[in-house]
Amino acid sequence: MLDHVSIFSQSGTVLWSRSLCQLRGNPVDELVKTVLLEERTGRKELNYDAYQMRWTLENKLNLVLVVVYQKVLQLLYVDELLERLKYEVVTQFQDEIRARSPIVFDAAFDRILRDVESNYLKNKRTQATSSKSISSSKKNGAARADASSDADQHAGKSTDDSDGVASSADELDRLKLDMKFVGSSKQAKPMRTGPRPSKYKKDSKKPADDKSKGTKKPALSFDIKQNVSAKDMEEFDRSKRLTSEDEQAMLDAQRRDNIGVRAYFSSRPLNMYMAQESEIVSDDDDDADSGSGWSFGQTRLGDFLQKVSGNKILAREDLAPVLDQFRQTLIGKNVASEVAEELCESVMTTMIGKRLESFTRIETVVQKALETALMRILTPKKSTDVLREVLAARDAGRCYSIVFVGVNGVGKSTSLSKVCYYLKSRGVKVMIAACDTFRSGAVEQLNQHCKVLDVPLFERGYAKDPASVAREAVAYGNEHGFDCVLIDTAGRMQNNEPLMRALAKLVSVNNPDLVLFVGEALVGNDGIDQLSLFDRALVDYSDRQDPRRVDGIVITKFDTIDDKVGAAVSMVYKTGQPIMFVGTGQKYTNLTKLNIKTVLRSLLA
Ligand code: GDP
Repeated sequence: MLDHVSIFSQSGTVLWSRSLCQLRGNPVDELVKTVLLEERTGRKELNYDAYQMRWTLENKLNLVLVVVYQKVLQLLYVDELLERLKYEVVTQFQDEIRARSPIVFDAAFDRILRDVESNYLKNKRTQATSSKSISSSKKNGAARADASSDADQHAGKSTDDSDGVASSADELDRLKLDMKFVGSSKQAKPMRTGPRPSKYKKDSKKPADDKSKGTKKPALSFDIKQNVSAKDMEEFDRSKRLTSEDEQAMLDAQRRDNIGVRAYFSSRPLNMYMAQESEIVSDDDDDADSGSGWSFGQTRLGDFLQKVSGNKILAREDLAPVLDQFRQTLIGKNVASEVAEELCESVMTTMIGKRLESFTRIETVVQKALETALMRILTPKKSTDVLREVLAARDAGRCYSIVFVGVNGVGKSTSLSKVCYYLKSRGVKVMIAACDTFRSGAVEQLNQHCKVLDVPLFERGYAKDPASVAREAVAYGNEHGFDCVLIDTAGRMQNNEPLMRALAKLVSVNNPDLVLFVGEALVGNDGIDQLSLFDRALVDYSDRQDPRRVDGIVITKFDTIDDKVGAAVSMVYKTGQPIMFVGTGQKYTNLTKLNIKTVLRSLLA
């Protein structure tokens, strides 16, 4: 049911992989590009074409494990599989991982996969069977004395529940029945609704079996007519197996009461091998606290010393409060809350399990990690040197085209004029195309800029198809030896479908060299949605097989925001596209490149 599994180092060396069928495209590459390199590891999954991917990281050994499967399959055991694989790999192949050499993992993988799949199927079957029994029992109603024969009779008929996992409503009913019949003295024949029909049959024939077998369960004391709350049922539900987390929590509580707590009792079922690591650390304390029920490591001071002395393996609980502070700081600097959240979760994911270096505070390492993450996000993954691209097109004998998109008032035509000024001052022969054929006055406004800049304006007036006007303009530019044509488009709200369709048509018909989204640095969460929806609309309304999207961002009014520079991060994070230009004032010369270091300083100050 899986398509592909890969285990590779965070630096990119593949240690082991298995394709269980031919993959279309390269989903793992996509994961690396859009998740690992873009600080999105806090996400749970990634969809790519027909595939879904889930992953887990092992930060001490810088390892990534990825499972690829068909999106439609909704495989519920993937997380467990990943954790089991991680545990096996980390316990068996530490040296190979460190040396980044290939591992022989086929047999272990087959065994683990078989195991996880069969556990999953077994659980599913058990639940489906119990769901069938409940369905039968409900139909029997008052005739519960004959539950055994009736259950058999109805089992085959309850087709609703027969093909899947029991619904929670059924589970609730089952528990209710359990309590009623175990607890009610009025019932002559208590009925058990166990998972296996055979047992069910046997028990119902011998109602007193529970006691005669010496079952130690105390009788439940619910009255049959009493309304039973879900909480009550939860408490008395013995049929449900405890999760390993619950079990561990119970054990921890018991140990606290009886023998005190040690670090290696801490429950981290998803990081089993880390518990081993903690064990080694806490073993050092054993002498100190032997038999006393008190552990130095558990005191505040002890915890502090652990944190600064390098004994600390970072866990979610250590990182959460610190990252929460940073999240608030980022939001305060105008990073969209959703982006700040995802970013911090991503940093968390990459830090859990790392060992804190000697005499280092958690705040310091978190800040460093966050800085690295932000740096990685803001660093352009492609050239932002528009001038060089234009000159390359000129050398190739064609006219380079740039489309500017964005809502009204953000500074779109001003930014277009600034770019025009910049290119012209570098010797590029530029013209401007007025493709906002919708808003009255738009052509005249642009013409005003053209006059000041002393560049020609290509225009066809209003109520024309902007895609055709742009096509004519580019053709004109090519015929008349222009190096670059800057195309202005109608400002529109991202939810105005007809206008968004017209824009998508302009872009898909003309396939410009660059599509620049112009957005204000002042915007909060709304502005970020704006950008995402613009980008989405270009794809949704495109008639190209390979739709064009926003290629870059011009962020305007940077001069008005003090240190609230977060919109820059949000915009890049949302699109994965770089900031090409920054507007820093109303003059044509107020155009710069993004200074990433300054942004970082402002963000984390
Ligand atoms: P459009 O409707 O998106 O084309 O917006 P305009 O280009 O007409 O600009 C709207 C207003 O924003 C104008 O007053 C511009 O002078 C102003 N503006 C544009 N860019 C900047 C900038 O970087 N800084 C400042 N302070 N104002 C800007």
